[in-house]
Amino acid sequence: ADLIRVEHVIKEYNHGAVKALNDCSLSIQKGEVVAIIGPSGSGKSTLLRCLNLLEVPSSGHIYFNGVDITDKKVDINLHRRKMGMVFQHFNLFPHMTVKKNITLAPVQLGLKKQEEADAQAMKLLERIGLANKADEFPNMLSGGQKQRIAIVRALAMEPEVMLFDEPTSALDPEMVGEVLDLMRDLAHEGMTMAVVTHEMGFAREVASRVIFMDSGAILEENSPRFLFDSP
Ligand code: ADP
Ligand code: ADP
Repeated sequence: ADLIRVEHVIKEYNHGAVKALNDCSLSIQKGEVVAIIGPSGSGKSTLLRCLNLLEVPSSGHIYFNGVDITDKKVDINLHRRKMGMVFQHFNLFPHMTVKKNITLAPVQLGLKKQEEADAQAMKLLERIGLANKADEFPNMLSGGQKQRIAIVRALAMEPEVMLFDEPTSALDPEMVGEVLDLMRDLAHEGMTMAVVTHEMGFAREVASRVIFMDSGAILEENSPRFLFDSP
């Protein structure tokens, strides 16, 4: 069965004046890495935001593990916990240490005791080589470090899916590689991922499928081999 199934989703803004998604349908399997590309304003970000219910579709359905998450009875917060999200701008809390940024949500939601969450945070920081930054504040870090911390902060919630919205677009070029490397590692570990990106190299090498969006609809989807290597 599909892990995620989007069926005929329409998302309107401004009372229908803007159709950010216009009859969008797709499926994502467990362990798949889907790269979403397309021009600015084509609905990529809206699609991700509908997947984790930051936005609710105007019509259509989204199924997660067979459950219709567009149903009014669904617990939106419970669903969001399963979907880790990483934005272009890291959204770290500036007044909290790196470690606190990572432990805040699991502790506040009662998923972990502080000591457990601290231990997990240190493990995650060791994984990305930033254990020595645990007690520093985000403004002491480079953009690449901040974004890798934003990624492990999402991982601390033990999500089933990771959603990335242009995770490298705000970075200086020399920082892009370290973030893509971490994402590539996650993909190889079997994490299900949907990635809005302009990084064609990443899409080509890491994605199992590439989706082209335009005007709120999916124009084409195929394996990167077909999209990039055809004459
Ligand atoms: P992309 O991520 O491909 O750049 P978006 O999903 O951000 O595209 O936007 C799709 C369309 O919806 C654009 O025309 C954008 O201006 C519009 N849009 C997005 N969010 C809102 C909003 N909150 N209110 C009104 N229009 C929006
Ligand atoms: P992105 O393309 O990465 O979503 P944007 O700058 O288009 O970045 O959007 C940033 C925020 O502004 C998002 O929350 C989006 O929903 C909102 N937004 C985008 N376009 C519009 C719009 N035309 N009117 C109101 N809000 C918008």
